[in-house]
Amino acid sequence: MHQHTLSELSGLLAGGEVSSVELTRHFLDRVASLDPSLNAFITVTADQALAAAVEADRRRSAGEAGPLTGVPIAHKDIFCTAGVKTSCGSRMLDSFVSPYDATVVERLDAAGVVCLGKTNMDEFAMGSSNETSWYGPVRNPWDLERVPGGSSGGSAAAVSARLAPAATGTDTGGSIRQPAALVGITGLKPTYGRVSRYGMIAFASSLDQAGTLTRSAEDAALLLTAMAGHDPRDSTCVDVPVPDYAAGLSGDLTGLRVGLVREFLDDGLDGDNRKAIEAAASVLQDLGAELVEVSLPNLGLSVPTYYVVAPAECSSNLSRFDGVRFGHRCEDPRDLLDLYERSRSEGFGAEVKRRILTGTYVLSAGYYDAYYLKAQKVRQLIAADFREAFGRADVLLGPTTPTPAFRLGEKTDNPVTMYLNDIYTIGANLAGLPGMSVPCGFVNDLPVGLHLIADHFDEGRLLNTAHAFQQATGWHRRAPEGAFA
Ligand code: GLN
Repeated sequence: MHQHTLSELSGLLAGGEVSSVELTRHFLDRVASLDPSLNAFITVTADQALAAAVEADRRRSAGEAGPLTGVPIAHKDIFCTAGVKTSCGSRMLDSFVSPYDATVVERLDAAGVVCLGKTNMDEFAMGSSNETSWYGPVRNPWDLERVPGGSSGGSAAAVSARLAPAATGTDTGGSIRQPAALVGITGLKPTYGRVSRYGMIAFASSLDQAGTLTRSAEDAALLLTAMAGHDPRDSTCVDVPVPDYAAGLSGDLTGLRVGLVREFLDDGLDGDNRKAIEAAASVLQDLGAELVEVSLPNLGLSVPTYYVVAPAECSSNLSRFDGVRFGHRCEDPRDLLDLYERSRSEGFGAEVKRRILTGTYVLSAGYYDAYYLKAQKVRQLIAADFREAFGRADVLLGPTTPTPAFRLGEKTDNPVTMYLNDIYTIGANLAGLPGMSVPCGFVNDLPVGLHLIADHFDEGRLLNTAHAFQQATGWHRRAPEGAFA
């Protein structure tokens, strides 16, 4: 049962071959027996899930079901869920029970999904390995000694290990695409403004975007259709019509111009990884696409730019967690200053503190022009590079990550090596573009991801490219063996 994709499960539910209650029980049982070795979930909402499944089955027998009615999914613990703990991977919010639902949660609930629980993540979505979570690291189902990537590592590991058919995630600098690549699944980060950020705990507001972690592009299309669309509660959520993305998957790539990004395929890329990407490009060519070479000359500046802009925004967004308005409060404060200091010192972990310090520094009066303003200017240059590239190509292609999954603890001592891991993904966030990672092979028995980027609001074309690739290759069907089979 758990080997089926979301779309296949949707078909089985529609055909009456399985009920939502049966499916939900099956996945809850898998979570109970297998998650202890992964740590992918922070909260499992078994009772609510079964109640939602009963309601989904009722809706179906009343003839009111849609394609997502009754399918189980999991939410990254960054999305507010009414009545359920929403921790954002932090001690700061360990006791926070949200009074309301995020728009993403509300829309998926309205479509009838069953939420199995909330998944582990890097603290406040800051990380590339899921090792900064207050709830401990998540493990990669392909090799338990390795990281699943981050920050949506819990969602990624859960989907890869077939503990949930699909999950939500967020991507500020790669946090959907990078973990998707490292665990061999499909990750979609939509255009900035395609999906509402309301109720999604803010990290860097000009970069954050909600998306999906699934087993196929078809599944991502189904979920995006339900999640996307204008929301008056998020002023950056754009009022652009939402197509039926699943219906748009023709699989036809005739005439598609695929841009091979020179800077994506240079010496920084590990040799075997490069072979997998080049093989993927040939598959697209065989399917009728035309390969063209493009360049993003300022790509090398994306990591330093991001690590000024994102901390700056985070230092402002996280100021609300002061033990008074929101978050953990220390015991017996001496006075107000002591309350602020100790609550924040105890509530935040080391990486979050590093970002708040960096962000406060680059925004301070003497350094604002030198760092923050400069970074904003470079951000414009990077966005201009992408605009130019989209004059020549419809979809850009490269690797998602420089290497396959690394070992737990391998990069925790050196934040810069950890940050460099985001080199290929961050550009799309700085430019607000939609991107995907799809499985495209293995290096040393570990999955690697093909990275595709499209122009603003061109998710339809992006998904169709990924779908055609998956129809032709089947890499996305490979599952970790052993305990998770
Ligand atoms: N790895 C990046 C960071 O640590 C991206 C995180 C994200 O996309 N949320 O900030």
